Amino acid sequence: MSKKIYVLPPMVANLIAAGEVIERPASVVKELLENSLDAKARRIQIDVEKGGLQLIRVRDDGVGMIKDDLMLAPEPHATSKIKTAQDLERIDTLGFRGEALASIDSIAHLAITSLAEGEQTAWKLYRRVDAKEYTLEPAAHPIGTTVEVSELFCYAPVRRKFLRSEKTEYLALEDTVKRMMLSTFDVGFVLRHNQRLVAQVRAGQGEADQDKRVAAVCGDTFVKNALHLESHYEGMQLWGWLGLPGFHRSQSDLQYLYINGRIVKDKILNHAIRAAYLDSIEEGRYPCYVLYLTIDPEAIDVNVHPTKQEVRFTDSRLVHEWLVMTLRNALQEAAQVKIAVDGEPFAEHVVEEESMVVSADHQPHYATFPRLSTNHTVYAPAFEDNPHSTDEILALCHQHYALLKRGDQVGWLDFQKCHQKNVYDRLLRAFRGEPLKAQWLLLPQTYPFSGYDVSTKFIVQQKLVPLGIVFDWEDGILTVRQLPALLRDGLNSAVFTAFLNAALSETEESTPWLNAIVDHLQWPADYFKKMSFEGLRKLWSEVAYVPGIEACIRWVTLEDVQQEMNECTV
Ligand code: ADP
Ligand code: MG
Repeated sequence: MSKKIYVLPPMVANLIAAGEVIERPASVVKELLENSLDAKARRIQIDVEKGGLQLIRVRDDGVGMIKDDLMLAPEPHATSKIKTAQDLERIDTLGFRGEALASIDSIAHLAITSLAEGEQTAWKLYRRVDAKEYTLEPAAHPIGTTVEVSELFCYAPVRRKFLRSEKTEYLALEDTVKRMMLSTFDVGFVLRHNQRLVAQVRAGQGEADQDKRVAAVCGDTFVKNALHLESHYEGMQLWGWLGLPGFHRSQSDLQYLYINGRIVKDKILNHAIRAAYLDSIEEGRYPCYVLYLTIDPEAIDVNVHPTKQEVRFTDSRLVHEWLVMTLRNALQEAAQVKIAVDGEPFAEHVVEEESMVVSADHQPHYATFPRLSTNHTVYAPAFEDNPHSTDEILALCHQHYALLKRGDQVGWLDFQKCHQKNVYDRLLRAFRGEPLKAQWLLLPQTYPFSGYDVSTKFIVQQKLVPLGIVFDWEDGILTVRQLPALLRDGLNSAVFTAFLNAALSETEESTPWLNAIVDHLQWPADYFKKMSFEGLRKLWSEVAYVPGIEACIRWVTLEDVQQEMNECTV
């Protein structure tokens, strides 16, 4: 048998690689913009002819390349971004595979002109049609790089057949540019198509600049109907704009997600976002968001897919749960603010499919929706004239009994009772429709719990969901995923058993099952002790208007003491 295996000539090997990396004009633009951003450009200009099929030119003011680097740039596996296998574990650049320019070179005419700082001459590298070798010649260029890609797929006519119409290809390219525009705010971008200015955004890092850019790319209505989010956990940061649940689209085109500045399509994160909006957006409609996740580069692997749009997390469960929790809490908080401010739920706002092209003279307005952070306290009771505001807590004894001073009077205050009354009051109001702040739990709480079947499911859900309690039940285990904050520390399986008994045998009244919940709440022994006097005083003034709260105090009258003293023989 004769020899069968041959090593492919570089040109053919590159063509195969190009098939993975360069699908259409939009992929070229993505790779070139990534290179400009990696080169620390502050201003990038993109010129496109005929949807990118005729010409794509990206000009940047980044660090540029010296002559020797320029000659290597289009070689396969030539990169300045990694050197060793270990570097793959901590990638902090957008590129690292050293494949993009080589791939582009194998399917189109490529020309790169560049000047690095400190160099006298700029150089232009290109290959004459069908020539094997590159030509390098001096050129005029300011510090930075210009990459020109013309006649896309001229060397791979088969691929050209798979392209859509010029218009469709252009729209995909424009979408890529918009995604890049939102990937970083300190870089200015200009996009021209067939010599017509399509979009221009200036560099700027302030809140107003950021809102302006998001409005320019996603539309004014989005910014006005989005809340601003910022949250940290275990070295991760999540921030951005989250469309309010009433604002949704028929397509998933207003969804921008970045990890460490990289545009990603990640199933886990997408699932988390969908889960966060689950109860608030009907099926077939899509939420809108611009979200940035920053995470330690060592906690993700970006070397998963040739287009680098997929990532793998070392602890995907943690990221998923944290995201669901953070987004849910933010959405709920926003809904409460809106209700508290307007006195009624905000109106449904179905977005019309608007044109997203930004014209040169387009002057977007700033966001008018209040910026919220997820740590924002939404519910603060009014303290003016609060009957408890001058009360003093003198001591805390026996876990939950406090010595209280009001004017000349002293009494024993039972904080456990006080807390129970407060919880009862808040749950009752929540059941009657008043919003109650609930939190998505990072680590769901589980309780052994039998006696729950499909027939009781409805009864239980009907009562617990308005209280902000979200749970699953499987194989005798109840998993609570969301809770009102004030229930969190007191919950135990006895609460659910008592609740179910009361709820099932219940008449018309709502009190027995609410009582069942509250009576069985049990706070840890040191719960009140940990609160500090200031915390206890705050709690006491917060419950001032809870019906019957004064019954938690046993006053010790002076007469009682005097009488006791008189009876005491010296
Ligand atoms: P990668 O980005 O994965 O390194 P590329 O093929 O995209 O691979 O680019 C090869 C190299 O060319 C880069 O590592 C970089 O050093 C250089 N390069 C490409 N584009 C630019 C640019 N716009 N400015 C400066 N250097 C560039
Ligand atoms: Mg690259």
